Amino acid sequence: MPIAYLYHPDCLQHDMGDGHPENAARLNVIEEQIRNSLDYEAPLATYKQLARVHDAKYIDKIINHTEGSIYLDPDTLLTPETPQAALRAAGALIHATDLVLSNKHKVAFCNIRPPGHHALVAQAMGFCFFNNIAVGVAHAIEKYALTRVAIADFDVHHGNGTEAIFTDDPRVMLCSSFQHPFYPYAGADTNSDHIINVPLAANTTGKEFRQAITKHWLPALHKFAPQIIFISAGFDAHEKDNMSMIRLHATDYAWVTQEILKIADKYAEGRIISTLEGGYHLESLGQSVAAHLKVLTEKNEVL
Ligand SMILES: [Zn+2]
Repeated sequence: MPIAYLYHPDCLQHDMGDGHPENAARLNVIEEQIRNSLDYEAPLATYKQLARVHDAKYIDKIINHTEGSIYLDPDTLLTPETPQAALRAAGALIHATDLVLSNKHKVAFCNIRPPGHHALVAQAMGFCFFNNIAVGVAHAIEKYALTRVAIADFDVHHGNGTEAIFTDDPRVMLCSSFQHPFYPYAGADTNSDHIINVPLAANTTGKEFRQAITKHWLPALHKFAPQIIFISAGFDAHEKDNMSMIRLHATDYAWVTQEILKIADKYAEGRIISTLEGGYHLESLGQSVAAHLKVLTEKNEVL
């Protein structure tokens, strides 16, 4: 069964300025890596779907923006093209969730921007406007009555928005790994049996990353026995990505993907929805996504 690939050219139109690392070229390097996929156009998320995780006034502020550009934080520029891109990005997660939970596909990958995992209930931050993965998870819970949904977030930055949205919802287990201390300076002190945060020191190697995931994420995921796994797939912990000081390689992304897939195969009928978060060194981003998708589509053994 081919992987479902969700995308929309509107996601290329959101432009936060020359030299901004979160740019349209990121989606293009990934597009070249997609093989053996069935392509789906990302729909626009509806107001109701967004309102499961976002504040109504905040949704209005984003989707009704038509003129001029406003910095919502020092790195996050709302332009007239942003609403359409952000609605497609969140809509991709909605459609991916429907495709996977209706058994049309086991696995879906959303090649979308803007990313989402820093977006809070009523606040944009860190290049993120709507929390795409949270919109997908909330859809899975509400429409399909799931009670155990896992999120694996290996972006180098802590998924503070995702944590904030689900902090009081034990139906969602968030496993996050992130450089610490580092932007957004959150997550290291969380004490929750369904939020499994793994802070990584600067210069952490792939071997140390694998040890930390094996020690903290995997036992928690086995105990939780998720019905589906969502992945906040950020690739900015790559050694060549100058957004961080963690030293992962494409093989490490393949490894963590395989470990997540083993959990999904055991408990969740292999159901995985992966969505792009960070990753700013274009060559490494393309290679890392290729390694991630190869595991998800071919189930290759990773060494
Ligand atoms: Zn990141």
